[in-house]
Amino acid sequence: MPNKLAIGVDIGGTKIASGLVNITTGNVIATTRKKTKGLDSNLDLIKKIENSIEELLLDSNTKSEDISAIGLGIAGMVDRSKGILLEAANIKTGSIAITEPIAQKFKIPAYLGNDVEVASIGEMHYGSGQNINNFICIFIGTGIGSGIIINNQLINGACGTAGEIGHIMLIPNGKLCGCGNYGCLEAYASRLAISKNILNYINKGYETCITEKIDLDKGILRSKAISDAISKNDKVVLACVLEASNFLAMGLSTVINLLNPEKIILGGGLIEACELYFKNVCEQTKYYSLKIPGKKTIIQKAQLGDFAGIIGAAKLTELRKLKI
Ligand SMILES: [Zn+2]
Repeated sequence: MPNKLAIGVDIGGTKIASGLVNITTGNVIATTRKKTKGLDSNLDLIKKIENSIEELLLDSNTKSEDISAIGLGIAGMVDRSKGILLEAANIKTGSIAITEPIAQKFKIPAYLGNDVEVASIGEMHYGSGQNINNFICIFIGTGIGSGIIINNQLINGACGTAGEIGHIMLIPNGKLCGCGNYGCLEAYASRLAISKNILNYINKGYETCITEKIDLDKGILRSKAISDAISKNDKVVLACVLEASNFLAMGLSTVINLLNPEKIILGGGLIEACELYFKNVCEQTKYYSLKIPGKKTIIQKAQLGDFAGIIGAAKLTELRKLKI
């Protein structure tokens, strides 16, 4: 009987999380999660991934021979067939081979995907996307990324970068985006965009209860702080969240008009923590979309929360083995 235990590793700009997953059921048996202070050297990145997997094996009293494979999802552009991270906005290593050293170290196969791709795979097989053939998973955090599933297949595109919904241009000559372009969706609708907007109000002298919670240099703010301020009816935060959700709705209406999906699944800390953002996105998207597909498309929250990346990365190992 094939071994159904796999390890999924979720690698972001500021954290590495690993999980032991039963890929038949999607159950997470054990996890480890560590904050990383910025990943900027190749050796450091590989070492931290290895340490995370070793800690998981130790904590769960599992040997690497009990594991079928290791799946890794990383926040950046990847070469899936070679297991290489090509480029990442928040991981300053440059191009680096990921799967080869990890497979050698643990003597089991390793596979690499993009973080949003694997989280979408998680939702597709075990979350809100189960039994749905055509849907889009959109994750809102520092940036905005998506996984597009058409006829049960995740679409990678000609050079593997499909799903970059955050860089749909909404406003000509608008705000500068992390990608270097101006006026992109994520420069208006992401958590970072909301934080920067709040900071703008603060700099202009507006009063808000959130002043102590925000990093005044970088505009960094947690989703929970945003939702707390909304529950206190903070006018500045309310205005910024409503504006951002309105812009996201414009982006979603483009997706609906273009692809006519059955469902749009929204995930990420802001969606989980901030009900007003989610509700307004749902209402406004219907308003901006063409009438017939807009009425039909279901907009729903992701089910797996923080575990989507771990579970999806573990499932990726099975899909790659079957060459799906
Ligand atoms: Zn952009």
